[in-house]
Amino acid sequence: MDAYIEFRNVVKKFDDFVALDHVSLQIPKGAFVTLLGPSGCGKTTLMRQLAGFSEPEEGDVLVDGKRMNGLPPFKRNTPLVFQEYALFPHMTVYENISYGLKLKKAPKEEKDRKVAEMLEMFNLQGLDGRFPKQLSGGQQQRVAFARALVMGQEILLLDEPLSNLDAKLRVEVRTELRQIQQKFTRYVTHDQDEALSMSDIIAVMRRGRIEQIGSPWEIYFRPATRFVADFVGTVNFLEGTAHREADGSLSVDHRGMRLRVDEDTDLQGGEPVTLVVRPEGISLMGLEETVPEGTALRGTIENYSFLGRMIRYWVRVGEEVFVIDDANVDLTGARTGDVQLRLDTRKLHVLKGGGADAAG
Ligand code: ATP
Repeated sequence: MDAYIEFRNVVKKFDDFVALDHVSLQIPKGAFVTLLGPSGCGKTTLMRQLAGFSEPEEGDVLVDGKRMNGLPPFKRNTPLVFQEYALFPHMTVYENISYGLKLKKAPKEEKDRKVAEMLEMFNLQGLDGRFPKQLSGGQQQRVAFARALVMGQEILLLDEPLSNLDAKLRVEVRTELRQIQQKFTRYVTHDQDEALSMSDIIAVMRRGRIEQIGSPWEIYFRPATRFVADFVGTVNFLEGTAHREADGSLSVDHRGMRLRVDEDTDLQGGEPVTLVVRPEGISLMGLEETVPEGTALRGTIENYSFLGRMIRYWVRVGEEVFVIDDANVDLTGARTGDVQLRLDTRKLHVLKGGGADAAG
């Protein structure tokens, strides 16, 4: 992978507090990267090192092979869009978008042409004469993107830029961003749903470190640690002991059951493990239905929530409660009573170890 943006062993401290703890990250050109993690884990701090609003105590920040350390923000070509999109209220959309070009003393033809390109790209045609307060939240946000990108930068940093929008608008702007994303390198911090739906690469951060880097699919189905599994989406954990069958295949002993697992690992057998399974990796079946050996648990439905396209069930198995999303919705109502929980063996992911420290 050719890195376009690169962090090398970046350390940032605030007095004794280590906000970034030797962060290394490589981002290829054109990738849409999302930093994901709990509040305070260092996402904004990492972006500020790249944009030039803050300097690391150790390590390097590189763009296209050039070291950025020490350069002021305006020499870095890495505009940062915040959640408060902070348009100039007394300026029209045209004036807002062309502001950077005006500072550069660009000729009028160039301003007209570039603003027109941005209006088209962000679906804002015809709104160039309006003032921010005459625009919807989503439109204002798109003007902020246009203003950040009009100078032709190849990197755009977004710090939770959609968090002020209501749910429906978020989905709309998200889809548009995804469509135009191919044209630029972007680099984003955001919430989980957004991360999964928009990113090429997700970097999950925890306490100033990067816990896992991967595609949305890897992060969701093959989380490296229990923390990542738990942070991204809803998840069920089954703790047990690894077991190697005579034919070499892997299974996991969980509370007296031997469960089959498809995933290939280097586990010998006998080690404590944690199985990770998402709510859609389990389906519900009646007690009378036959399932292959080692693929189902028995439980009792405790609760459900009808969501239209699916039903979310909470099913008790011994002392644990599993969350299951059943897309096979009956027209008349939800299941009740005792059921089998059929595990999709392909979607079981094995972490080594038990408890909070389980890791891949
Ligand atoms: P959020 O999701 O809440 O925005 P974040 O992951 O972006 O969180 P940062 O803003 O990067 O978190 O902050 C990381 C840690 O560094 C936090 O504990 C924060 O309190 C601390 N921190 C950030 N800026 C400063 C500062 N200027 N002085 C002291 N501590 C700071």
